[in-house]
Amino acid sequence: MNKKTRPLVVVVGGGPVGLSVAALLSSNSKLEKFDVHLVDSGSAPTWFRDSLDLRVYALSRVSQNILNSLGVWESITTCRSSPYEKMHVWQGKYDARLGSVTFDSAEVGEPDLGHIVEDSLLRVELIKNLERAGVKITFGAELSSIDIRQREAHVTLSTGEKLSAAILIAADGGSSTVRDLLEMPITKVSYQQQAIVTHIETEKSHGETAWQRFLPDGPLAFLPLADGRSSVVWSTKSNHAKTLCELRDSEFRAKLQSASGNVLGKISSFTKRASFPLQASHAHQYCGNRVVLVGDAAHKIHPLAGQGMNLGLMDAAVVADVLLEALHKGEDPGDLRVLRRYERQRKGDNLKMLLALDVLHRLFGVSGNLMPPLRSIGLSAFDAMPFVKSKIMRRALGYRNQLPGAAINPIV
Ligand SMILES: Cc1cc2nc3c(=O)[nH]c(=O)nc-3n(C[C@H](O)[C@H](O)[C@H](O)COP(=O)(O)OP(=O)(O)OC[C@H]3O[C@@H](n4cnc5c(N)ncnc54)[C@H](O)[C@@H]3O)c2cc1C
Repeated sequence: MNKKTRPLVVVVGGGPVGLSVAALLSSNSKLEKFDVHLVDSGSAPTWFRDSLDLRVYALSRVSQNILNSLGVWESITTCRSSPYEKMHVWQGKYDARLGSVTFDSAEVGEPDLGHIVEDSLLRVELIKNLERAGVKITFGAELSSIDIRQREAHVTLSTGEKLSAAILIAADGGSSTVRDLLEMPITKVSYQQQAIVTHIETEKSHGETAWQRFLPDGPLAFLPLADGRSSVVWSTKSNHAKTLCELRDSEFRAKLQSASGNVLGKISSFTKRASFPLQASHAHQYCGNRVVLVGDAAHKIHPLAGQGMNLGLMDAAVVADVLLEALHKGEDPGDLRVLRRYERQRKGDNLKMLLALDVLHRLFGVSGNLMPPLRSIGLSAFDAMPFVKSKIMRRALGYRNQLPGAAINPIV
């Protein structure tokens, strides 16, 4: 196909999901592909070899496959990533035999349960891929207006630039401007919680294990980092989080030490702290004529299972499959009937995960004298159900009955 006749896709949002969908649609290995223009309101990311990004993600096997099919996984692991083989989940005092659940990759015949990857590294490697494919990227530009017509989406940027796209993909995160400008309805539930993140150095090794303790105010997670430290995600009530963020370093360390139940021994140092408000949200529709929502723009979930980015990367792979197939068949890829194929494949899956995490969050938030011992019994019982645990692990690894092309690419 002559390059000039390729339809233009405008992707709004250069987070990992937007960059991935742009890369999948413009990849050189495809016979049919799209011209893509990606716009992000922020600045271009930089990755530093000598300091680990505060923002990290636990990426599943299927996310790894998607990134591998784009040719970026090897560069990511060469630079820095941290596989984790086990995950311990407990409440109260940690005891491997009682009141806890252990997920072990060996039980499902996998080398690990996933990798911890830095946001900036992921984005830098995806941008290199886009530059190789000749994708135009504009940083520091917002969306001023959108005018949807029958056959095109007209977009004006804050720079004054006007674009006419066959499809507009909103990957602009939980506070999506595209979604708001088009008045696409969404249901939002605030958890009245904030997640505090920091990296800590501990006396004991993390042992390539993710640790998660359920506390009365929310879960506290430790994710193993490549340099031996652990990344903390401490979800707690908003007013408690505010207090914790304002504490002096020594006071914060003491609080974290106590909350950790000393599972990794003494905490010797930690980096700066950042906090993120937590909410669940779900768009009523993932598409309109010429418009598609992906990633957090379509759905936001509690980070307690580290799945938000994984769901977003799956959205990216599915929407790319649907659009490329439509192009291949000579259909109009921006037609609502085509875009609905993406929605049908992703909505149920995302909603199931959102609801499962919401229930889990509420279950561990219920107070009362009887609840902690009942939950401990429940965790022990659950730990003794290998079949159920395997099913959950395979789900968390991203496996589904039907996977998009990019997700079944074997790791080389
Ligand atoms: C504390 C915490 C820990 C988490 N840990 C994990 C984890 O371990 N594993 C996991 O899978 N998920 C995790 N998540 C969820 C994950 O962070 C999100 O699901 C993911 O970042 C969504 O990616 P995205 O690309 O859709 O959106 P974002 O990462 O939010 O990116 C949106 C992009 O759009 C740009 N943008 C915004 N508005 C505009 C505009 N108007 N015009 C142009 N550009 C715009 C922004 O600059 C940004 O680059 C975690 C979340 C939190 C809060």
